[in-house]
Amino acid sequence: MQIMYLGIIGATYYLIATSSFSYIPGYYLSGQHRFMSFLAVGVGILLFLLTSFSDPGTVTSANVPQYLSAYPYDNIIFSEKECSTCRISKPARSKHCSICNRCVARFDHHCGWMNNCIGERNTRYFMAFILWHFLICIYGVVALALILAGRLKELKVIYILTEYYGIENSFRALAPQVVQWLLGAYNTQILIMMFLALVSLLLAGFFTYHAKLCLTNTTTNESFKWQEHLSWQRKVSEAKASAEALKASLDELGQERKPQESKWKSFFRRSRLEELEVVKNNVYDRGFLNNIHEVIFPLSTRRSFWANKSKSG
Ligand SMILES: [Zn+2]
Ligand SMILES: [Zn+2]
Repeated sequence: MQIMYLGIIGATYYLIATSSFSYIPGYYLSGQHRFMSFLAVGVGILLFLLTSFSDPGTVTSANVPQYLSAYPYDNIIFSEKECSTCRISKPARSKHCSICNRCVARFDHHCGWMNNCIGERNTRYFMAFILWHFLICIYGVVALALILAGRLKELKVIYILTEYYGIENSFRALAPQVVQWLLGAYNTQILIMMFLALVSLLLAGFFTYHAKLCLTNTTTNESFKWQEHLSWQRKVSEAKASAEALKASLDELGQERKPQESKWKSFFRRSRLEELEVVKNNVYDRGFLNNIHEVIFPLSTRRSFWANKSKSG
């Protein structure tokens, strides 16, 4: 999968370079964009390598005391446990990755593209990677659009269409002719633009999803755990509510009340109960500024993290 990323970015850049670099500099695009695009892709590959080969926050017997005190158990979705493979305590928020065969702190997910876990120490590189590639895609679409607009201007296409072909000089009359000309003469560029636009949409969705998690200090792994926990809680509260409703209706039967009124009453009682019981109580959420800070400067990279060692001996 690592080769796949390099293949895709390499092939796309190669296609753009061979098909479009001859038009740089153009009417709207200065010559430095040849260099800028190379730099942008270079940084992208660098971020890829950084995410792929950086330590995601491997939990070892040497750093497990620090991790245990940095991430206390919430006793809701994480309780004291030992990893049966690594034979060390499993700090809260960590998970054993069966592919990498190691425990990873603040485990997010194992990324197949990077062939690495995304965890405490490299979530920042992962986020930068997605954001950067989103920006590269937008840059590519805009640059290619400017190249095509420049060609339109340089070849005096509008002038030729109106003067020689007698087409009316209005947007409605010219647009289909111009589109047809672009599709015929620059189909490679248009295909690349469509591909980049599609990828940028996917990356935007992916980035938004992960940014939301980062802002609430939740990992992908935890969001699944919360889903499980909340649906279990909902079932419990539903069972409680229906038991209560049954009790209430039995009482009312004894008192011979109007049946319609009791139905409404039990309905409201039930919905109120559900709202009360099912709450996500994330103890690791410390406000969105602190949460962003924790992603950019992971706890284990701070001096205070290692100071815990001297305390515990
Ligand atoms: Zn393990
Ligand atoms: Zn892994």
